Amino acid sequence: MIVVEMARRAADSDHKSGNGYAGRGLFEWPVLRQLRDGDLFGLGGSAASQRTRELAPRTRSADRVVGSVCPYCAVGCGQLVYLKNERIIDIEGDPASPISNGNLCPKGAATFQLVTGSHRESRVLYRRPHGKEWERIPLEQAMDMVAERMKKARDEHWEVKNDKGEPLRRTMSMASLGGATLDNEENYLIKKLFTALGVVQVENQARI
Ligand code: SF4
Repeated sequence: MIVVEMARRAADSDHKSGNGYAGRGLFEWPVLRQLRDGDLFGLGGSAASQRTRELAPRTRSADRVVGSVCPYCAVGCGQLVYLKNERIIDIEGDPASPISNGNLCPKGAATFQLVTGSHRESRVLYRRPHGKEWERIPLEQAMDMVAERMKKARDEHWEVKNDKGEPLRRTMSMASLGGATLDNEENYLIKKLFTALGVVQVENQARI
């Protein structure tokens, strides 16, 4: 009877303050939840609030999961990319990865921001020689400009032989420095392309 009276007062008080238990039902009051569930010491499920019970993992609403690799460093921890309606809603560690067993360091755990961060620049910016401002240019135009400059540098600095007459067939006019965000396949293609162009200075940040 004492407990019921306490519950009634608590419900009354909540009702007056607009807080709570009365509106959600008397049995939401913790002591009554404990009695109802046989959880006398409040160490079981009755200690959880309605809000806690309704919490769900961020990934639950995903309609597709894609396996990936963390783009940040050469450790190559496994990641799972969760998508909903073709948009990324979360990126977590992949428990099946033999490298990381589902773990990600703080940087890797923040990969979601890499693709969703509002400060990330997603357009091509170009600062022309002696220019003081960055200009936005189309990606197609930027790609053409890169290709034209590479051809010009290669043509103008092509070395056929060294001083002793030994064959070189190379150019020292350009170099490639890959970043850790490049994966195996991208590095393979870069090395193949630049070697075919006669570029010998090909390196990756992860080796430096
Ligand atoms: S999670 Fe951390 S350690 Fe693993 S690849 Fe990414 S940056 Fe490197």
